[in-house]
Amino acid sequence: MLRTHNCGELNINNINQEVILSGWLQKSRDLGGLTFIDLRDRYGITQLAFNMETQSQLCTQARKLGREYVLQIKGVVKERESKNIKIPTGDIEILVSEIEVLNKSKTPPFTIENNTDGGEEIRMKYRYLDLRRNPLKENLMLRNKVGFEVRSYLHNIDFIEIETPYLIKSTPEGARDFVVPSRMNPGTFYALPQSPQTFKQLLMVGGYDRYYQLVKCFRDEDLRADRQPEFTQIDCEMSFVEQDDILAIFEGMTKHLFAAIKNITLSDFPRLPYDEAMRLYGSDKPDIRFGMQFVELNDLTKNKGFNVFDAAELVVGISVPSCASYSRKQLDKLVKFVQRPQLGAKGLVYVKCNEDGSFKSSVDKFYTQDDLQAWANKMGAQAGDLLLILSGETAHTRNALNELRLEMGDRLNLRDNSVFAPLWVVDFPLLEWDEDNNRWHAMHHPFTAPKPEEMSLLETDPGKVHANAYDLVINGVEIGGGSIRIHNREVQEQMFKLLGFTETEAKEQFGFLMDAFEYGAPPHGGIALGFDRLVAMFGGSDSIRDYIAFPKNNSGQDVMISSPSEIADTQLDELSLTVKKTEK
Ligand code: ASP
Repeated sequence: MLRTHNCGELNINNINQEVILSGWLQKSRDLGGLTFIDLRDRYGITQLAFNMETQSQLCTQARKLGREYVLQIKGVVKERESKNIKIPTGDIEILVSEIEVLNKSKTPPFTIENNTDGGEEIRMKYRYLDLRRNPLKENLMLRNKVGFEVRSYLHNIDFIEIETPYLIKSTPEGARDFVVPSRMNPGTFYALPQSPQTFKQLLMVGGYDRYYQLVKCFRDEDLRADRQPEFTQIDCEMSFVEQDDILAIFEGMTKHLFAAIKNITLSDFPRLPYDEAMRLYGSDKPDIRFGMQFVELNDLTKNKGFNVFDAAELVVGISVPSCASYSRKQLDKLVKFVQRPQLGAKGLVYVKCNEDGSFKSSVDKFYTQDDLQAWANKMGAQAGDLLLILSGETAHTRNALNELRLEMGDRLNLRDNSVFAPLWVVDFPLLEWDEDNNRWHAMHHPFTAPKPEEMSLLETDPGKVHANAYDLVINGVEIGGGSIRIHNREVQEQMFKLLGFTETEAKEQFGFLMDAFEYGAPPHGGIALGFDRLVAMFGGSDSIRDYIAFPKNNSGQDVMISSPSEIADTQLDELSLTVKKTEK
């Protein structure tokens, strides 16, 4: 090996040892008679010392070395005169006797330091240099550790990791597929999996009753900060289980990860039915680090002459602690917030619960102090609190109030990144109605089983049917989701019919699965957790990109390797493709 030790391990116990180190020149300093070089590798930084008086030739050589040169040095470990308590190697330095330049380096386009001067774009282009920086290195080490702990937890309870194919078949359900043309079968395409869903179900039919895989999934969706076209899931499936068994195992895994990674002991996760989550938080991924639950006020606000509330399907509010002192200007800002086109609320009603027990509201014309007192009572408000109330069509109003609640949580610093509040949202509806296309969609996916006790509603009132489908939500972020699956051909056929598939379409796309169900498919269910998101959360960030070694930018491009790119005409011919070339 080109080293006896790494750059992070030498300390006072190694004094007077002769060592060989290899690494990158982080920076050098000339202090008259002495030259110091910080030598860096993945493990840390070790200070190299050169003495001009006693080793003038070596010292002169050292002074000529540039940043990011790759060096191999031989020397003796000495105790430092001025110690650096901030790093583990800070008590020692190496008095160097030989330097070998293993490779030179151009001056890097940005500084390789914790706080770099490089902008996002240049760092993406030179990602391999960015990866040398500590913050990214720590992120990837964290990712490795989380992956290791996931594997160890699942391995210990008899899960086996099985790979499923990446070249599969395109199906119109779900997000858009990435497709890959097949040369050997002209005019046909593979699709990259959006998830290994059908394969893991087939593994259950194959008898592998506890499967998992840390697996890449591909979805051709418009990108947001926390989305990547390729991302990693912790994908799992189990046979002979009910919902409770799956929740117990993956709650256990999540607790194990928090203990191993963050040294945090989580208590049991609350379970909130979907309908309750929507009623209390207006969201299926509520942030329960703080309260401010929704309180519905239709009954108390009706028939007092305020048409807006009288006409509204839903009147609902939150009580914001200690904000009765908000100024006109602050309140106006909140009104603007809910009126943004994305939220589209018409207005916002406020009630200040003054410290003296009186109330001041934006609807004083219509409601007496007693009326307002009744609202405050129902909302559990204290003197000093501010009630914020929205009204209108149920889904829109809940959505707007959800955003307002989160905004108030932010303003009051109630969304602390070092606090973790997980919960299970359970009992999702099986289907959701798509207004634009006038059809039902599977809320989770078409393989999710209806709750057995609601099976009969499937014919008569499908919108009312729930599923044993569940999401793991932590701090308002959906970390994972899964369901108990259909394992019976007739039910699966019925499901496809409901979703608007003709019999031929269903057979063509998912015939293999329904065929498999006829050969002794066991009852089964599973879950998939977003690995990148989970790691980012442990790292205290929302940006999954910082936890992926080579991510894509917001346009789905890898600017380092210039991908995606055009391909040669010969390749197109081989693939029997014609492409409309864009003018350069
Ligand atoms: N395959 C599903 C997904 O990717 C998860 C599951 O149902 O297990 O969301």
